[in-house]
Formats: sequence, C-alpha cells, structure tokens
Amino acid sequence: MDCLFCKIIAGEIPSSKIYEDDTVFAFNDIDPQAPVHVLIVPKVHIASADDINEKNSDVIAHIFEVAAKIAKEKGLSDGYRIVNNCGDQAGQTVKHIHFHLMGGRDFTWPAG
Ligand code: 5GP
Ligand code: ZN
Repeated sequence: MDCLFCKIIAGEIPSSKIYEDDTVFAFNDIDPQAPVHVLIVPKVHIASADDINEKNSDVIAHIFEVAAKIAKEKGLSDGYRIVNNCGDQAGQTVKHIHFHLMGGRDFTWPAG
C-alpha cells in the first residue's frame, strides 16, 4: 500500500521517533505548529476517523493513553491540544489516521 505513514512505521522513510509499542507509533511532525508537535498513529492502517468501528477502536483508545504519557514526558502540565483532521474539508492530507499532540504554546478556539 502506498501510504506515507505505513512507510514511516515500517522504517522505510526516516522519522524522529518519540514512542513505539506493539500497536502504536509516535513521531515528531516534520512541519511543527507548536514547540511540541507529535503525530500518534496506529500501526494498523486505518484511513480516517470515519473508519473507526467496533473491531478497531481499541487501538484508538490506546492512542489516548499514549498521548497522556507523551504529554507528561514532554512536561505539558499547562495543557495541550489533540487534533484529528478527518477528510478533505477538515484538511486531512495523509490518509492514515493520526492524532496531532501539540503543546508548549497557547491555542485559540475555535480552531481555524
Ligand atoms: P493532516 O494535515 O493530515 O492532519 O496532518 C498530516 C501531518 O503530517 C502534517 O502536520 C504534516 O506536517 C505531517 N507530515 C507530512 N509528511 C510528513 C513526513 O514525511 N514526516 C513527518 N514526520 N511528518 C509529515
Ligand atoms: Zn497507512
């Protein structure tokens, strides 16, 4: 499958790895929008949040456990933002579900 994040998970494309376990991989975003900007992805290819179902939702729950762990490790005690862009209108550019963990600055709401 021609998927950028599957290739990053497989090590075929280099990345700055932050965390890895059996089901989840996390790495620094190549174009950071905050002092901390980590992408957290499932190792299994799920195209978007629209493809989450009863068979694969365990790994999505696990991603949020990993996010909390990384946030603590990164010292984001003042707060942070977790973002998922789902589909073209939301600005999803890589069709392998990923959660942006961003912190280290203030954020506005609603997000543009
Ligand atoms: P999206 O726009 O789909 O929500 O987020 C995709 C993210 O992937 C963007 O923030 C973009 O900077 C990041 N990205 C795109 N290509 C690469 C890459 O080759 N390596 C890394 N580390 N991040 C990437
Ligand atoms: Zn993929």
